Amino acid sequence: MKLVFLDRDGVISIFTPKDYIKKWEEFEFIPEGIDGLKILNDKGYKVIIISNQSGVNKGLFTLNDLNEITNNMIEELKKKGINNILKVYYCIHTKEENCDCRKPNIGLFKKAEEDFGKINFSETYFIGDTDTDVIAGKNVGAKTILVLTGKIKSKEEIENWEIKPDYIFKDLKEAAEFITKKGK
Ligand SMILES: [Mg+2]
Ligand SMILES: [Zn+2]
Repeated sequence: MKLVFLDRDGVISIFTPKDYIKKWEEFEFIPEGIDGLKILNDKGYKVIIISNQSGVNKGLFTLNDLNEITNNMIEELKKKGINNILKVYYCIHTKEENCDCRKPNIGLFKKAEEDFGKINFSETYFIGDTDTDVIAGKNVGAKTILVLTGKIKSKEEIENWEIKPDYIFKDLKEAAEFITKKGK
């Protein structure tokens, strides 16, 4: 299966510094995020979204709010001909809860494997916008891509990172073009 793992905020939807997307009205797609999803869709790649949403257990929004965001997001993407999202996984725990699913932990990747069968992670990519995403991708053995549409805006900002992404692209569109041309 041609499969790509994606983070949500800062990759396909706007990243809000020091805040959470608490309801659908606050959710906003990144245009290049949609373009990237469409490219992956049209080239036969499936997508799984892995996202930390600790705002739920912090009491800032409810699981219902989160599900409403997800359902609306999927509906909007379907209208644009994007039907390749297999599933959206969230960790709703706070850091203090020490769960095994909050990125950079890999619990949600393992959950995907339980749901969809054996995944050759080394042949997949994890695309995110933060150091946590890069570390999570490395932890699960995927190829890692950092996009500059979220928390990190330039290559200079990651100079001091101990763990660096395998690739850096401007946005999901460029990342998707790279992946689909490479064929893996
Ligand atoms: Mg993000
Ligand atoms: Zn968790």
